[in-house]
Amino acid sequence: MTATTTAIDAVAALAELAPIGADGTRGGWSRHLLDEADRDMRAWFERTASSLGLAVETDANANQWATWAPDGATGPAVATGSHLDSVPGGGPLDGPLGVVSAFAAVARLQADGHAPARPIRVANFAEEEGARFGVPCLGSQLLAGELGSDRVRALTDATGVTCAAVLEAGGIDPAGIGRDAARLADMALYLELHVEQGRQLAPLDAPVGIATSILAHGRWRVTVTGRGDHAGATELASRHDPMMVAAATVRAARGRALAAAPPTRSRATVGKLQVIPGGSNAIASEVRLWIDARAEHDADVRDLVARIVADAEAAARAEGCSVTVAEESFSARVEFDPALADRVGDALAPGFGAVPRIPTGAGHDAGVLAAHLPTAMLFVRNPDGVSHSPHEGASEADIRAGVDALTAALRALTSGDAR
Ligand SMILES: [Zn+2]
Repeated sequence: MTATTTAIDAVAALAELAPIGADGTRGGWSRHLLDEADRDMRAWFERTASSLGLAVETDANANQWATWAPDGATGPAVATGSHLDSVPGGGPLDGPLGVVSAFAAVARLQADGHAPARPIRVANFAEEEGARFGVPCLGSQLLAGELGSDRVRALTDATGVTCAAVLEAGGIDPAGIGRDAARLADMALYLELHVEQGRQLAPLDAPVGIATSILAHGRWRVTVTGRGDHAGATELASRHDPMMVAAATVRAARGRALAAAPPTRSRATVGKLQVIPGGSNAIASEVRLWIDARAEHDADVRDLVARIVADAEAAARAEGCSVTVAEESFSARVEFDPALADRVGDALAPGFGAVPRIPTGAGHDAGVLAAHLPTAMLFVRNPDGVSHSPHEGASEADIRAGVDALTAALRALTSGDAR
């Protein structure tokens, strides 16, 4: 493989990605598994990797990988990267910042003449947000064998298209998805850089932080069934309106989370609602809503959801409706590898001093992989803390500081004496 000195400026690379998947309806960006925007992001990944002389491949689970393995780089790779998909109408940095920074760091190491003792591998994990099929970290969970392949093939998107059909149309054999032991074994560790979600670094006056843990979290689909009828002709006393139950459930989510915290850091959110039939002059026949619940420990989340569901069932009884609840995903609390965090902290010390260690409430592919190999995360300061929104941001100086930090960490983790 020929050495190259192509420089990548992370701020310029993000600007290059900005037109892809720009959402004219919601604002922000919408890039979902193998849709047109996601395919354009994937093409950018391939072009960028090729410009650095990296070998590019897409694995059986739709994740992309770009490997730099010059002479002398042997054994399992030091992996880095993030995801290029988004929530509906999301921000510009959640995901892309980690991939862009990874390529920028590799370019910097190449230009510096760094000779890695291990291959460095850049990842783009598929469907991290779960926006199309409802299951977050789809690509990394499949890779790690944490999802049943049959279940994933049968998932449907909002238009009723199956995940199997979407994969097939994108050139991925749906029969081949699932645990990839060889690929897992070929990773020595995974270090993901991500824009901070929440606002912990700004008060500490720190451009970057190192993750300690991720809250336990999950998603539940609540279906409330009532009786559709006329909004004008139906007496109030004879209604079975599922919207009343949905409203009570939304309030219960906030109320039960408030009652639980602190010290469990409990939070519950209803951010998605489907009303059937959805007419302004019709009492709904059915309402589906999704509860996103998170807390410090797994049992705290289970307890929180049980309380919200009990409130929903009580409201349903009062209204003459029925409720069913389905768990769409559950992610146990994650503790990142403390020894790897120390090594990253040591590598950053010359440039950044003592880097803050912070927990996060957001799920990540690094959290999925943490059960299988040493993982760590670097967060880049988000001045307002806003995320999963077009208003998410980081300063240009901090974006470049993130690349400096990732470069320093990758250099240390692949130096000869790191073996
Ligand atoms: Zn993300």
